[in-house]
Amino acid sequence: MNEWPKIDRARSTERIRNDVETLAGSDYTLSSEAIRRYAYTDVYRATLHYFTRAWEELGFTVTEDPIGNLVARNRPPGEPVFGIGSHCDSNRNGGKWDGTLGVVSALEVCRCNAELGLDLPLQAISFLEEEGSGFGQMVLGSRIVAGRVEEQELREAFVAIDDGRPFWDHAQAAGYEPTRWRDCAHILDDLTGWIELHIEQGRVLQDTDKRFGVVRTIAGYVHGDIFVEGRADHAGATPMDMRCDSALVAAKTIVELERLAREAGSATVGTVGEIEVEPGLINAIPGRTRISLDVRGPVDEIVHGVVRGIVAFAEQTASDGGMSATNPTGREATSL
Ligand SMILES: [Zn+2]
Repeated sequence: MNEWPKIDRARSTERIRNDVETLAGSDYTLSSEAIRRYAYTDVYRATLHYFTRAWEELGFTVTEDPIGNLVARNRPPGEPVFGIGSHCDSNRNGGKWDGTLGVVSALEVCRCNAELGLDLPLQAISFLEEEGSGFGQMVLGSRIVAGRVEEQELREAFVAIDDGRPFWDHAQAAGYEPTRWRDCAHILDDLTGWIELHIEQGRVLQDTDKRFGVVRTIAGYVHGDIFVEGRADHAGATPMDMRCDSALVAAKTIVELERLAREAGSATVGTVGEIEVEPGLINAIPGRTRISLDVRGPVDEIVHGVVRGIVAFAEQTASDGGMSATNPTGREATSL
């Protein structure tokens, strides 16, 4: 191509805005205050219909894979296509741009492709359950596509937040074929690349006045818990040198996580977002304290190094105070 096609940006902006605003309407969200949309609900189904109609108008073939990832393409199976898209489920109280913007923008690319007569080979995908609002499992649709799940998890372990029934049952009730979940991998067969537009979920662009950024790496994460076992005693009657205060170990561990994450560099971040203290009384020394761990970063070895470091620190600090700290695997497994 000798010159760039001339895009009517104002028109595209308007259409993207219109789609996003429409999908923030009451037919497409379970909440009147925010976007609440997750797999196999009526509002999610309506959203897929919205996109299906729009793509079909452009002459695309629209299908859903066996568990409900939406695929729209303008080439027959077997021909190479370039991938675009995102997800259109939301957090339980999500914003209207999160995910939806990427699918709407993919649709706009397809509209421009038609209007400008470019005939680019395209395949759009809207992945199911990226946010985990339905079943508590983040990026579930793409994990199934990537084969990063066990069948037992789909059949039993992954249950709906709303009613406790398994993913498998919900998928079947919605008319899908979870028994064929391994076939979902084929939606990637013809892709030669992938571009996804997504809002930034942090505040770096906003606070530095940048309009967009390009993602160069994807951060993995480890979620876990540290439990500190001390001894609950009376806050007034127990002298300072006779205490086994589990909250003290937790507090030092939180400070140490801050230090370790900063020291690790390479965009590593560490957060303790949950603290549970037992018995949780103003006049009782905490006998047991749980803190959550969320450690992320683009370099797996560094992330795991920080996790090992913080667990070892908690164990040592607890032991120095005559207590114990453990990091049972209850929630430790969630690492990508
Ligand atoms: Zn998102």
